[in-house]
Amino acid sequence: KLIEGEKLRKRLHNTILELKGNIRVFCRVRPLLPDDVSGTEGKIISYPSSTEAQGRGIELLQNGQKHSFTFDKVFTPEAMQEDVFVEISQLVQSALDGYKVCIFAYGQTGSGKTYTMMGKPGHPEQKGLIPRSLEQIFQTKQALETQGWKYDMQVSMLEIYNETIRDLLSTNRDASRIENGTAGKQYAIKHDADGNTQVSDLTVVDVCTKREVTFLLDRAAHSRSVGKTQMNEQSSRSHFVFTLRISGVNESTEQQVQGVLNLIDLAGSERLSKSGSTGDRLKETQAINKSLSSLSDVIFALAKKEDFVPFRNSKLTYLLQEYIGLKRDKYVIQGILGTNEVLLNWVLWRVIHDWNFYLVSRLPFLGWSRGKSCLWRIASSLELGRVEEDR
Ligand code: ADP
Ligand code: MG
Repeated sequence: KLIEGEKLRKRLHNTILELKGNIRVFCRVRPLLPDDVSGTEGKIISYPSSTEAQGRGIELLQNGQKHSFTFDKVFTPEAMQEDVFVEISQLVQSALDGYKVCIFAYGQTGSGKTYTMMGKPGHPEQKGLIPRSLEQIFQTKQALETQGWKYDMQVSMLEIYNETIRDLLSTNRDASRIENGTAGKQYAIKHDADGNTQVSDLTVVDVCTKREVTFLLDRAAHSRSVGKTQMNEQSSRSHFVFTLRISGVNESTEQQVQGVLNLIDLAGSERLSKSGSTGDRLKETQAINKSLSSLSDVIFALAKKEDFVPFRNSKLTYLLQEYIGLKRDKYVIQGILGTNEVLLNWVLWRVIHDWNFYLVSRLPFLGWSRGKSCLWRIASSLELGRVEEDR
């Protein structure tokens, strides 16, 4: 009977996901902050009023031209952390049900990615998606334990900077030191036949309680901020990847589940369009450019159901390969966008998601992005007609 109930729950879950699509993209508009100067690159002229429960559209004024975009949902500046969490809580739950979940925050530096993922230090009421997800997971775990489930959980946290993995939970100073972009350890990414990802030498910590994970998050934050002074605001130029692995077994039904929850605070996307860098900054720019554009290439290929998906082109996509695409029926991606007044790069995500080529071809400012941004690359591949049959 339990198995039947479980099967039904999974089927229902799958149906909901199919209905919603495997990739969802939300746009969160950050409130204006005192330091904000009026944007020279673009201005939002309309977004849903906070009373519109299903608001999805956003309009941008760029060089006197109006552009409209649609997301799965737009969170207005009034949206609370709680409102954002409600939208993703089901995905968090699915990690306990044995699904592999990725949630990304994408956007420029200062657009609210870290606020959305972690929250505001010293303001527990404004805690972000990561602490809220942990609360939900450990609460649900407790409830499921009364039904015969037993869980093993493991946490790892890493940073990818200049295509180099850095272990944020390492207690060994040498291991986390960066010398000219090369860490002391190899941190090689490996995928085994069962669809598990391992990073050699990476610290993986067994956890039983939310408190333990919170403690590790603090340790990672400290490790990041040490790097920050060394690397000059490194945090906005590196990807932060929080991984929680969940293995569950039901002692009465002998059912087993293996879920993974990845919560990712991506490097600031503005570097994509800033040319003219030299030296270290240029190297950084190229690394971020490479990994963010590789991510979009991968999502592009997945959404197009192409046979070849270029996971190996960057550390980030290779690391997340098992979670964002290999067995599409069982894996789930969801994006959360940190947002700002400038919408340029976000468009990409919606374009990929919806295959709304009509909209693409009508967007004159796709070519406006300077340099070889991922948006530009998508635009040029569209012009080559690679995606025509999907129209
Ligand atoms: P990012 O990580 O994208 O660089 P941050 O999360 O650090 O950006 O946000 C930049 C600033 O804006 C921080 O001071 C943060 O507290 C504030 N902020 C971001 N989003 C919001 C929001 N929705 N409400 C209030 N303050 C926000
Ligand atoms: Mg940040």
